[in-house]
Formats: sequence, C-alpha cells, structure tokens
Amino acid sequence: MQNFLYFCGQNISFMARTEISTLGEFGLIRHLTDKLPLQQPSTKKGIGDDAAVMQFGSKRTLMTTDLLLEGIHFNLEYVPLKHLGYKAVAVNLSDIYAMNGTPTQITVSLGVSARFSVEDLEELYAGMRLACEKYKVDLVGGDTSASMTGLTISITCLGIANDKDIVYRNGAKVNDLICVSGNLGTAYMGLQLLERERIAHSHQDAQPESIPAFEGREYLLERQLKPEPRQDIIDKLREAGIRPTAMMDISDGLSSEIKHICHQSNVGCAIYEDKIPIDFVAAEVAEEMNLNIVTCALNGGEDYELLFTCDLKDYEKLVGIEDVYIVGHITKPEFGTMLIGRNGEELELQAQGWQAFKS
Ligand code: ADP
Ligand code: MG
Repeated sequence: MQNFLYFCGQNISFMARTEISTLGEFGLIRHLTDKLPLQQPSTKKGIGDDAAVMQFGSKRTLMTTDLLLEGIHFNLEYVPLKHLGYKAVAVNLSDIYAMNGTPTQITVSLGVSARFSVEDLEELYAGMRLACEKYKVDLVGGDTSASMTGLTISITCLGIANDKDIVYRNGAKVNDLICVSGNLGTAYMGLQLLERERIAHSHQDAQPESIPAFEGREYLLERQLKPEPRQDIIDKLREAGIRPTAMMDISDGLSSEIKHICHQSNVGCAIYEDKIPIDFVAAEVAEEMNLNIVTCALNGGEDYELLFTCDLKDYEKLVGIEDVYIVGHITKPEFGTMLIGRNGEELELQAQGWQAFKS
C-alpha cells in the first residue's frame, strides 16, 4: 500500500490538472468513456441514450441509473422526504419510458448521515413505495452506507421492451414533427417559488406578510416536488399506432434535449416559440419574478415530460392525443438548431440546461 501511495503521489505531481468545467458534464462523460469499447454481444446500446439496452433471450433489457445528492439536487429545508423518495424513483422510470420501454425493477442505494432518524428514512421509503405501487415496479435490492455529507440516493432501474419498440435519440429524420407532452418550465417555476419562500424564511426579521403564499400555485410545487413519469403518453402513442422516430425525457430543458436528438440524428430543427406549451400560472409567476417563461421552458429542466419526433404521416393521429403538442419540425443539419421567435426571427438554441460542472 505504501508503495502504491508513493507511486501515485509521484505520478500525480507530474500530471497536468484540467478543470472539469473546461469539459462540461457531457464532455467529461465522453472523455472518460471513449476508451471503453463494448465487449459483450448482449450489449446493444451503451452510453449515450436515456438507458442502456441489453439482449438476454428474445426481449431487450433496459437499464438506467440516477444519483441524487443533498445540496446539489435537493434541499431538505423545503423538500419533504416522502416527496423526495417518490421523485427519486419517478426520474428513473422516466428514462425507461423515454426508450418506449416498461420499467420492472429498481435497486436503491443510500448514503445516510447521522442527522437522519429511522422515521426520516421511513418517510423516504413511503414515497418510494408509492411510486413503485403506482407504476408496478419492484424494489429488489440496494446498498446502505453511513455518509459524512448528508443524504445520497442512487437508484438503478431495469426495464423491458421488444426490440422493434425501442426508440433511441438518433432516429429523427428531416421533416419529422417535434412533439412535447404536458408543459415546460413549470417545475422550474415551482423551484423558484420554493427558493423565494426559503430565502424569506431565512431572514430573522421576516414579516409574515412578506412571505409569499403558495395559494393557487400548488400545481407548480407539485411539478417540482412530485413529478410523474409520462407512462400515460407512452400508452396513448401505442394505442394510436404511433411509434416515435426519436425520443428522450426532458430533464435538462427543451434546448439541451432537442440538441441531443439533433446531434445524434445528424439533423437540425426549428422550434416555434409560440408553440411551446406553457402553464398559465407558471407564466404569471415568471412575470412576477421578472423571468422570461420561454427561457425557463427552454432551459429550466426537471419537467420530466417527453420530447419526441414523429413521421409527418402521423400528424392526424397526433393532434387527437390529449396533452401532446407539436412544437416544430426537424430540418436538414445545415439549418442548425433554431428557435423561431414570435415575429419570425431565428435564434440559435443554447443548451444551458443544468450544467452541473459550470459555475
Ligand atoms: P439522463 O439525463 O437521461 O439521465 P445523462 O445525461 O445523465 O442521462 O447521461 C447521458 C449518458 O451518459 C447516459 O447514457 C448515461 O448512462 C451516461 N453516463 C452518465 N454518467 C456516466 C459515467 N460517470 N460513466 C459512464 N457513463 C455515464
Ligand atoms: Mg433522460
């Protein structure tokens, strides 16, 4: 061991230091994993989509994992543990649905500091249990460790799909319609409301009337605290006989996600600002906070809605599906990834998203 440490120390002293922020999250993942060729014939899709795809027998197995860290992904000052448990499961299921698959099992790994009691963890698991019951998923294992840094939750989810049903990010074709479910920017506005409340409470001399009410805005909080994976949309698309050409869930904001689809499909896009579905109350709160709701919809993240592309021939069927909105179309790659403003102006979409490693 001593030798090993000495060796490492020597090595490190000669090594250049590159800040992670120079690569960003996706650059970092690419950098670390590009020398890891796939070795198993059963691995059909490795890194780069919402879930990995494996073939064991006739069905395909999907696998995705997500890590949630206290202080980075959630703040327990206003996030109830039961909601956190629900959300931690929901965001994993969302990645399986985004492949057009069915989630089946999860494992849950926890890092827990001494601050937490048995009752706290019971609350967390009550939320997880609720999500498992609702989406018919079994919790089949995990790992538990003491932690020096609050609460860490890592969930891995397995799912199944038929090979012909799986939808990747790389199948979008020129002239395909670009669709989103639900509405966008709402979870971000919910977060803004919660943050404003937290800051108001943190001032010792805060007057009760200076603390904003959540009345009439519960839906925004719900979107932030208890997102629902869109299994219903996956079911409706299947019932309508529509198989999207490309799909992913919107965890980082529409801008960043459509750029992933365009990049991987080698196409461009035109997204129409006035077609982006916005919740009325979210728009009201944005205005109150001097935020541009379209910017929030493009870059806010955590909506866990579905973004997908469909062949033009599916237009008639698509317009009949409740809560699905056509927001633009796929173009040739030369066009770039563009936002078409209300007056026809063209703006290059910026993938801000949640750039975890940028300050
Ligand atoms: P999502 O937002 O859908 O959960 P991510 O943006 O987190 O997906 O990840 C993009 C891709 O990179 C996925 O295929 C994921 O499995 C992979 N990935 C993320 N982090 C790592 C890592 N540390 N090592 C290897 N692959 C990773
Ligand atoms: Mg995803």
